[in-house]
Amino acid sequence: SLTLKGLSKQYRQALAVADVSCQIESGEFLSILGPSGSGKSTLLTMIAGFEAPSAGSVAIGDQDVTSLAPNRRNIGMVFQKYALFPHMTVGQNVGFALRMRRVAKLETLQRVKRALQLVQLDGFEQRYPNQLPGGQQQRVALARALVFEPPVLLMDEPLGALDKNLREVMQLEIKALQKKVGATVVYVTHDQDEALTMSDRIAVMAKGKLAQIGTPLELYTQPQSAFVADFIGKMN
Ligand code: ATP
Ligand code: MG
Repeated sequence: SLTLKGLSKQYRQALAVADVSCQIESGEFLSILGPSGSGKSTLLTMIAGFEAPSAGSVAIGDQDVTSLAPNRRNIGMVFQKYALFPHMTVGQNVGFALRMRRVAKLETLQRVKRALQLVQLDGFEQRYPNQLPGGQQQRVALARALVFEPPVLLMDEPLGALDKNLREVMQLEIKALQKKVGATVVYVTHDQDEALTMSDRIAVMAKGKLAQIGTPLELYTQPQSAFVADFIGKMN
């Protein structure tokens, strides 16, 4: 499980995240919805360890990871812009995190192969990212996040750059993959329908705060504020 306690981030200009607490169960798929600027990305970067919180803590299982460097946390991340290294092959991109962790070369090759099989890109090791269409690039990014079998997978609008058809295909693939590896997923999206179909629970953020967290049905039938009702009401 992933436990957030009183997590806050104060930037000079803004309180980006304000006292967020919640527990996300192992194997759970949690989506985060909320207007632009509500603190979704800031929350993810603190969970990943790229930003230090101003207050609060992050724990994975019973280990407090708040002061651990990102690469010590065993968290996989996928962003909207896949940010693959353009000068590296697909194989090098996917293996990068393993090489950084000083995993031996042969084992790296084997794990890269397995990760690429998982996202149905067998044999793509020698290609370069810019030779691939967007959906395949996004799958490489997924493979790169999955390669060290992280118990926690954070995704920040991973499908935002894709067209509608591809997005729907990838939604199914991500769900299938999550079930297969049993990862705990925190998934930021702008798309209410996407959150509704993919999630065990949805967290709605407003101005840095957790406005409500619950199953899609709970949010839909028992919104705890006009804001949540209005925001979820946009789903159809
Ligand atoms: P979007 O849906 O547009 O991606 P978001 O919910 O991810 O928005 P954040 O990017 O987390 O929102 O931003 C939350 C607030 O924190 C905003 O007011 C933003 O301007 C501010 N902010 C985010 N990153 C920084 C930063 N590095 N320095 C200063 N302020 C920041
Ligand atoms: Mg964001």
